Amino acid sequence: MTERGAPPVTITDVKTILTAPNGIRLVVVKVLTSEPGLYGLGCATFTQRPLAVATAINEYVKPFVLGRDVDRIEDIWQALYVSSYWRSGPVLSNAMSGLDEALWDIKAKRAGMPLYQLFGGKAREAVPVYTHASGASPTEVEERVRAFMEQGFRYIRVQMAIPGLTTYGSRGGTAIPALNPAQTRTWEPTPYVHAVPRLLEHLRVALGEDVELLHDVHERIPPIQGLWLAKAVEPYRLFFLEDLFAPEDIDYFRLVRAQCATPLAMGELFVNQAEYVPLMRERLIDFIRVHISDIGGLTPARKLAAFGEFLGVRSAWHGPGDVSPVGHAANMHLDLAISNFGIQELSLFPEGTREVFPGTPEVRDGYLWCNEQPGLGVDIDEQLAAKYPFPEHPYNGAWPEVRRLDGTVVKP
Ligand code: MG
Repeated sequence: MTERGAPPVTITDVKTILTAPNGIRLVVVKVLTSEPGLYGLGCATFTQRPLAVATAINEYVKPFVLGRDVDRIEDIWQALYVSSYWRSGPVLSNAMSGLDEALWDIKAKRAGMPLYQLFGGKAREAVPVYTHASGASPTEVEERVRAFMEQGFRYIRVQMAIPGLTTYGSRGGTAIPALNPAQTRTWEPTPYVHAVPRLLEHLRVALGEDVELLHDVHERIPPIQGLWLAKAVEPYRLFFLEDLFAPEDIDYFRLVRAQCATPLAMGELFVNQAEYVPLMRERLIDFIRVHISDIGGLTPARKLAAFGEFLGVRSAWHGPGDVSPVGHAANMHLDLAISNFGIQELSLFPEGTREVFPGTPEVRDGYLWCNEQPGLGVDIDEQLAAKYPFPEHPYNGAWPEVRRLDGTVVKP
């Protein structure tokens, strides 16, 4: 019997759904229950290793949770977390997130409320989002920013291609055959760090102060060039500069903090609290950027948000195209309810993705709007999802290899 005197609703099946509408490999978990018609959905998308996540769910998560009480989200999370002994990491965290978000979806459906209500109710009416403007020159980026501003967006991430190189957020570049026989993408840090301040200066002169500009370094430059770049872009008042360092180099944030006031966002590659807690506790970053399914779902993300509130660190959950609409809805429900919300990244949902996921959050005037259905508010059309198998890829979706001109592998 449950605390309410009725028999508990239990987990009767855990299904892993693999689908790639618009070519992006998505992993969604559907948790079925002993109550007819009651189920929940969670995002478990790790698009570079989706088949490993599917195995973790089918072979380890599912047998561990069958028959358990759906109401005991915290208990299930803690038990599952230590059940592998060696814990966290993107594969196991995503597998846990698929289950965890589905259990929150179920609990809110049982309560007859949209999920944000269980998190304390709305702290804002809708969620401001930022989108991505890329181009081959400052004027091309400016044109794209203006087009987004006309649609009502006030936060825009700006990235510019560097001639001859494959820059994050844009493509291009030719390798020298003798140095890079596989002809992978090429990259050099120095032309990039000189181009970014020029881009931002152009945009501030052209657009004024009415738009918030963001930029993602994507951990691609040596730490000392990162320090130089953070200082060089300070006059252009970024909303944030993202992933200035690789997770392996986070001690450098202390040096940046001591030398300039450029707002710093970090953490989309983090999978473990040992990585983000020290940075936040010492107030070395301004925005925590974790990918919620990569830290294990909404259960840990709620705690992370609350921790940040006490330290003045705002949220900026990772929200690229390789988060399913279920995961974007999870981001949104947390965004609606927390007081230290910063900004939400959004990759605009293509029509094909919306058809597979009825109830996908709406984007209007630069905001994400909740549909007020009980739970996460997003469903999946499984028959339609099955029509979009993962596309063929030589490495099952692995991140493309990038090398310097001399052939050295660089971080993504
Ligand atoms: Mg990023």
